[in-house]
Amino acid sequence: MPRVLPRLSNPLDWRPIERQILLGSLLMLAPVVLGGWLLATMLLAPEYLDTTVAQALLVLFGIQAVGLVSLLLMARARLQTCNDWHTLENFVIGSFVFNVLAGGYASGTHFTQGLLILLLGFNIASALARMRKIYIAYLLVCVLMLLLAIADFLHLLPVAPLFRQSPFEMDGRPSSGWLAFQVMVTVVLLAIIRISIAVINRWVERENLYREMSSIDGLTRLSNRRSFIERGETEIQRAQRTTLQSVACVMVDLDHFKSINDTWGHHAGDQVLVAASAALMDSTRQYDEVGRYGGEEFAILMPGLTLAEATTAAERIRERIAATRVEVDGQSISITASLGVSCFPANDVGSLNDLLKAADLALYQAKQAGRNRVVTASSIPSV
Ligand code: GH3
Ligand code: MG
Ligand code: MG
Repeated sequence: MPRVLPRLSNPLDWRPIERQILLGSLLMLAPVVLGGWLLATMLLAPEYLDTTVAQALLVLFGIQAVGLVSLLLMARARLQTCNDWHTLENFVIGSFVFNVLAGGYASGTHFTQGLLILLLGFNIASALARMRKIYIAYLLVCVLMLLLAIADFLHLLPVAPLFRQSPFEMDGRPSSGWLAFQVMVTVVLLAIIRISIAVINRWVERENLYREMSSIDGLTRLSNRRSFIERGETEIQRAQRTTLQSVACVMVDLDHFKSINDTWGHHAGDQVLVAASAALMDSTRQYDEVGRYGGEEFAILMPGLTLAEATTAAERIRERIAATRVEVDGQSISITASLGVSCFPANDVGSLNDLLKAADLALYQAKQAGRNRVVTASSIPSV
């Protein structure tokens, strides 16, 4: 479906006062639609309504609308200077409770549409307003609804006092006004459901974004150090449970990367990092974990591989990186990397920390030995 309105930025990222303005604007639906319907019925089919109750409700909706508009205008004026405005939030939550209770009781719908509107309002407000206030408001509504039910039961209060005449004819068929009312309720509910879903979608979107931001490196799209270590812990635990399983680790550090930055600029350095990451992803299996461990240092976890198998894989990766040409501003940059390989379990390798340390030590040896080479941890005398 083509987008008619421009897509708003995510309201969950807005300041509290901006969210309160959004919530207040949405709540304007209540007095406008309900008040509009009341007015139309008073004009077109006054015989159905109790005039006193209808007029009282109309006045209350009017007060709500005027209150909301005034507070919204005041909030707009405060936008620059104020981050959060409890008065608006309290008014919005309080008047929503009023709408549900007064509208529900007066029309006798407090246990059908009333409850649905209540839950949908909860959906929308829970993302945008303070949870504690919403919780108190809903507790209040639940208790009052129960009291209304008891009052209904004991005939203490008139049921559906808004209506003077039943919307059902003598033969049991509902009148056309009743149908119009149901249509209006359905349209309003559809609008609220649509808004609820939009709010939840935005919530999920933000959750996904945060999850991604906390686990993926922004430049290379590889796992970041934190999520690499998390995966490493899981794999070590798995290997410990099944004694046959091993976990190999390869540390990869680009050679003389600083001079790439110095010669071609930081921007070229970034492109080299992206190209190196792609080469690592291409030359590893789907089940391996490739992470950006530091600036130009990468780590690869290879569950199930022995030291010898991981060394062969590391050699393949080294060749692949050495064959990589990075085109930046019409220039072709070639790169090499040094790699250190270790494996769990082994002498001196009893944890993830040991595994990473052993690979790092082997990598250091590779650098010492002249770079662009693979060194295996077993070839290092134990320290
Ligand atoms: P060696 O062969 O011994 O590894 O030398 P090297 O130059 O690769 O290592 P060194 O640790 O001296 O320099 C690493 C450089 O990586 C320094 C730092 O500015 C650069 N670097 C770290 N993160 C990034 C990044 O995200 N982008 C770019 N362009 N450079 C980065
Ligand atoms: Mg380096
Ligand atoms: Mg380094």
